[in-house]
Amino acid sequence: MTGATLKAMRSFNLRLIKLRSGQEHRQEVELELEPFELGGERYLPVPEKAPAELAITRASTGTLFELKFATRLHGPCYRCLEDAVLDIPISAREYQATNPDGDDQLRTQYLRDDNLDLATWARDAIGLALPDKILCRSDCAGLCPGCGKNLNEEPHTHDEATTDPRWSALERLREKL
Ligand SMILES: [Zn+2]
Ligand SMILES: [Zn+2]
Repeated sequence: MTGATLKAMRSFNLRLIKLRSGQEHRQEVELELEPFELGGERYLPVPEKAPAELAITRASTGTLFELKFATRLHGPCYRCLEDAVLDIPISAREYQATNPDGDDQLRTQYLRDDNLDLATWARDAIGLALPDKILCRSDCAGLCPGCGKNLNEEPHTHDEATTDPRWSALERLREKL
């Protein structure tokens, strides 16, 4: 199998493979990744299709699912709004017991009728791996609160007394008195 013949896979049908206890199935799949919203901004996975390694291991008590891939998100920096790029390596695991007996800890929410929902799983895994804020660089200085200029490009400070509009209004008032 070559990368060119792979089609983006939204789910994996477990009926296609027959695993006995102790056996493992490994397969390369291609995931189609959706844009992310974080703090009201949109972040695009580039490229939107990512090769992933899916491993399914059958044990006597249940089945272990592992999904590994890497993605790169592009979007605005939380502080300065310039382009930010974030590399996210994903290594996710899910477990489904043969007899979960109503215990949610022993079942994966991504498995329904022998179909493993890869698209939702990949999306959630990226969501869990995201930082609170996506920055262009960890020490991004952000935008100047006084004039809105990018402080990374033009580091500066303002003499607050002369530029704050509230002060100049007060100044004008004082002149009239
Ligand atoms: Zn920034
Ligand atoms: Zn400024």
